[in-house]
Amino acid sequence: MSGPGGGRGSGTHRPACAVLAALLVAAVCSGCAWRAGGRSADGDEHRARPAAGPPGAPGPGPGQLAGRGGAPAGSRENARFGPAVRAALAKKWGLDRPPLIAPPPPAVKPHITTREGFEVNGGDDSLPPVFTTVPTKDRVVFLTMDDGDEKDPELLQMMDELDIPYSAFLSDYLVRDSYGYFLEMQRLGVGLNNHTLNHPYLPGLSYSEQKSEICDQQAVIEEQYGQRPTLFRPPYGNYNADTLRIAKSCGIKAVPLWNAEAFPDHMKWREADQDLHPGDIILTHFRGRKDWGGSMADMVRAVMKTITDKGYAVARLEDYV
Ligand SMILES: [Zn+2]
Repeated sequence: MSGPGGGRGSGTHRPACAVLAALLVAAVCSGCAWRAGGRSADGDEHRARPAAGPPGAPGPGPGQLAGRGGAPAGSRENARFGPAVRAALAKKWGLDRPPLIAPPPPAVKPHITTREGFEVNGGDDSLPPVFTTVPTKDRVVFLTMDDGDEKDPELLQMMDELDIPYSAFLSDYLVRDSYGYFLEMQRLGVGLNNHTLNHPYLPGLSYSEQKSEICDQQAVIEEQYGQRPTLFRPPYGNYNADTLRIAKSCGIKAVPLWNAEAFPDHMKWREADQDLHPGDIILTHFRGRKDWGGSMADMVRAVMKTITDKGYAVARLEDYV
């Protein structure tokens, strides 16, 4: 009675565990192979286009490891792992349930304009738009992480295994002692964006000082990571007309701010309804227990509970902006 599929006797619990473990290993490894082989200079490699499967990856088990590459054409299925693996990984990381799966990225990025009340004196439509929510009907929100102080290896693994996209906005003074950490983040598909060299209050600086803070950070990121950012977030969300003109002059296309902020134990909302909305940008920070009483993983668990319970998936900001 211990032939294939028997599962009796002393091995009663082992087959199921062994199968799950094998699934996890196969799934995670296939993800690694896929991502490692898919890098491109513009960081647009991951989050999969529906066509090709992971080159060289082991074939998925029936109904289990259908990654995005295996999804039928036209399907909204956009997940890297099948349901069983997603459930197991959610449990591993302490989530009540797996993150919801975002729809495929829009074929055409939405036209974004500056949010009312966020205009600058003397500004016009030629300046990069400043906004807190991306115009979309998709039930998605965007996770953005700022500064770069905490370099927690657990965060990289957690976000990769849970397949949660996020975007980083880096200040070089916090990053320059650990460029490798963010290189690994970039390899895992995370966009690295500009948050100035030294995190100053930009409106208090001269034009040339602002230019150094913004454009020199563009150069640092390009030199370190081979990719010039197109997204810029001013420290504290403070900026003036010079800020936007300078950012545009060195390659910035958009200035995403945020509509909600995530902490390990609460959310801080910008809207009066204290709620999420389609396309909302959520801010959080690379911080650790010393800063806010929790780890990065604690913060992710908290914000994902909010996002998932409200029926939203996390999408990749760079796919929409
Ligand atoms: Zn900041």
